[in-house]
Amino acid sequence: MSEEAFDVMVVGSCMTDLVSQAPRLPKAGETIHGQKFFIGFGGKGANQCIQAARLGAKTAMVCKVGEDFFGDNYIHNFKDNGVHTDFVGQTSDAATGTASIVVNDAGENAIVIVAGANMLLGVEELQGARPAVSRAKVLVCQLEICPQTSLRALRMAQENKVKTIFNPAPAIADLDAEFYRASDVFCCNESEAELLTGSSVANVEEAHQAGQQLLKRGCGSVIITLGPQGCVVVKAQGLTSTHVQTTACATVDTTGAGDSFIGALAFYTAHYPTMPLEEMASRANRVAAVSVQAVGTQSSYPFRRDLPAELF
Ligand code: ADP
Repeated sequence: MSEEAFDVMVVGSCMTDLVSQAPRLPKAGETIHGQKFFIGFGGKGANQCIQAARLGAKTAMVCKVGEDFFGDNYIHNFKDNGVHTDFVGQTSDAATGTASIVVNDAGENAIVIVAGANMLLGVEELQGARPAVSRAKVLVCQLEICPQTSLRALRMAQENKVKTIFNPAPAIADLDAEFYRASDVFCCNESEAELLTGSSVANVEEAHQAGQQLLKRGCGSVIITLGPQGCVVVKAQGLTSTHVQTTACATVDTTGAGDSFIGALAFYTAHYPTMPLEEMASRANRVAAVSVQAVGTQSSYPFRRDLPAELF
């Protein structure tokens, strides 16, 4: 195990989604009956790792779950998807991260996230993963764990010339400037780009402008995803800004589309290191478009066998 080299390593979050569907959202102090309950696997880090694995990347997840049913269950989920779990820690000091979600008949929701064990992922786990990180092709981080842990992981990768993809989600307005410098690819959605730049990002033109603003902060490239409009790719090399369109499709549920896109981007970065970033983004658009055509988060992510051969 210690000599294994991974295509994609993700240092990030795992969350168990506890979803209740009810006619309406309960008021304070009220108990109501719902019509359906299900448990889903989520967390941005885990989502991105599982999408990369389903495309054929050799992946490892660095994360922390509780010593509880949800933690054990999540480790099974990683194994079922071929993700290596040697760097998945279990703690008795906090519960596995959960998102308790109530969805009403109008599709509105109320959500309580308890990050729990995710916030205890730290230096100790990173040190344990260091040899593997130094041999990986790509490292991916987000902001659903302690931000300093993400930054440390990105720097560890950079020191070892491992490509870094950073997804600043959920966004924080005063993001430490070091994150930009530690990102080979800085990839966010419209609302995150708005918060980070303080400017409106409501159309392709504004995304080009926001991308250039973010690029100046020191990352290698910026990708801003634009839902059904695909994404904008802004590169420091050659100072280009390109709108990469996607094809229209019947949208069923866009939850987790951004994570599907980033997982696919990590796969292409690892497997086709010389492919232009615009081409990787175009293919990641096509993978993410499949994910919006089915219900759920990870349950909607395609496997390599579901996709046309030209994407590989
Ligand atoms: P997030 O899920 O973070 O809000 P986006 O909504 O920007 O991110 O979606 C990420 C990617 O998923 C887009 O760049 C696009 O490739 C794909 N996508 C999202 N919504 C659609 C849609 N309605 N039709 C086709 N592709 C979509």
